[in-house]
Amino acid sequence: MPRILIHACCGPCSLMPIVHLRKEGWDPTLFYFNPNIHPAWEWEKRLDALRQVSEVLCVPLIEEGDQPDPSAWLSDLGGVVQEGARCRLCYRPRLQRASELAAALQFDAFTTSLLYSRYQHHGTICEEARNAAARHGAFFLYRDFRFWWYDGIRMSKELGIYRQKWCGCVLSMGEAVRQQKEAAERKARQKAERAAKLAQEAEARRLKKEAQEARQSAKRNRKAEKKRLRQQSENT
Ligand code: SF4
Repeated sequence: MPRILIHACCGPCSLMPIVHLRKEGWDPTLFYFNPNIHPAWEWEKRLDALRQVSEVLCVPLIEEGDQPDPSAWLSDLGGVVQEGARCRLCYRPRLQRASELAAALQFDAFTTSLLYSRYQHHGTICEEARNAAARHGAFFLYRDFRFWWYDGIRMSKELGIYRQKWCGCVLSMGEAVRQQKEAAERKARQKAERAAKLAQEAEARRLKKEAQEARQSAKRNRKAEKKRLRQQSENT
């Protein structure tokens, strides 16, 4: 059976690559090497989730690197902080190392769980993986695991695998917090607008009812006055 090294960014993203590569006849091994995951407790949490995947699905796991240092990682970016551009620099060392290890351990191929995520830059990952493969003489196996996006989410929930809330780096963490805050503010604004609209409609209904009652009362008064005048003329 051909052996494949799967660079694994986290537990949930690794499920579909393992399941579907096995279906194709590959014998997978996971490789956790992610200096881009911050802070240290998050890096640990994702590693624990991957250990859980490794145990439940009986896949060997190779772990490399210590808890990352966000400031060292940021300084390696050399000022490239724009999402997209920095992601290429983030994929590069991880895929280079995966490719190098695959060649050194004589795996038949390597791939990455990053190809499962709909939030990653798929084309950039492929370019970086192909460059890494060419450099180290390894074979990069491309698969579009995004096809099984919902299956992966369902399976991770069923297995109770930790699901992260941001991509990985400190920058993405800040962006996620900002986006969550903006979404909460948007929701609160929409709720307040809905409440104001309902109050406006209720006021319009109240005014309409008031006007209707005033019209009816005026009509009743006119009728009573007419009756009184009629009776007065009959009595005179
Ligand atoms: S957003 Fe994700 S892929 Fe991009 S640099 Fe940060 S951790 Fe890496």
